[in-house]
Amino acid sequence: MKGFIDCHCHISAEEFDSDIEDVVDNSKKNGLIALVAVAEHAGEFEKIIQLSKRFPGFVFPCLGIHPVQGIHPEEQRGVTFQDLDAALPLIEKYKDQLLAIGEVGLDFTPRIVNSETGKEEQRRVLIRQAEIAKQLDLPLNVHSRSAGRPTIHLLKEQGVQKALLHAFDGKPSVAMEGVKAGYFFSIPPSIIRSQQQKLVQQLPLEHMCLETDSPALGPEKQVRNEPQNIVVAAEYVAKVKGVSLETVMEITKQNALKLFPRLKPFITA
Ligand SMILES: [Zn+2]
Repeated sequence: MKGFIDCHCHISAEEFDSDIEDVVDNSKKNGLIALVAVAEHAGEFEKIIQLSKRFPGFVFPCLGIHPVQGIHPEEQRGVTFQDLDAALPLIEKYKDQLLAIGEVGLDFTPRIVNSETGKEEQRRVLIRQAEIAKQLDLPLNVHSRSAGRPTIHLLKEQGVQKALLHAFDGKPSVAMEGVKAGYFFSIPPSIIRSQQQKLVQQLPLEHMCLETDSPALGPEKQVRNEPQNIVVAAEYVAKVKGVSLETVMEITKQNALKLFPRLKPFITA
């Protein structure tokens, strides 16, 4: 089965409510074979599960609590333990259907967190979710912003063995510590307009995946991103690594299967 696996997207976002059928159709027409749907808060868990049932074998659910909570930009704040409490019964209920725990992580953007206490709360929420992932034998789908080093160090300290670092904004040297720990890094279409080109140069292809983070991180700023744009990230990686698009497609698919073993029955060789 040839095609791209979008290892991190927000297909449950309200931006897709009106035309989800078309978005999924266009994804399939443009070479996608699986969408890994991540959650940000407990309120969208049921919607993600429903989407995975509506598009069986194509949309795969992850549940987890994002380090940034609050839907509208003006109400955004760091995660607290209360946010996690609402999520735990649902993670337990759907544990057998999950591909990973996510989106989890650390976000130390000053607008989101401006105290050591706030950072500590984020760390504790991440540690708890890492423990749950370990108990369920599931990988973590991880966000880190302005917190590349603390995130990778925390994952290693907690003995996390399977993790995807999505849209990593840290230094390539820090990413390489993650590579040594066996982690994967997913590259979004926004790579063509970001400052992270060095990351693609340094990361071995064997530790790279592809993602879109739709509806965010598209090739054009302020334009809704869709899974079909994954080819933009793939072409970029192919160019930097000096390999064919076909090679990037195949190796990133194999990496995604290693990272998310529950995909294997659906993605035949
Ligand atoms: Zn995301």
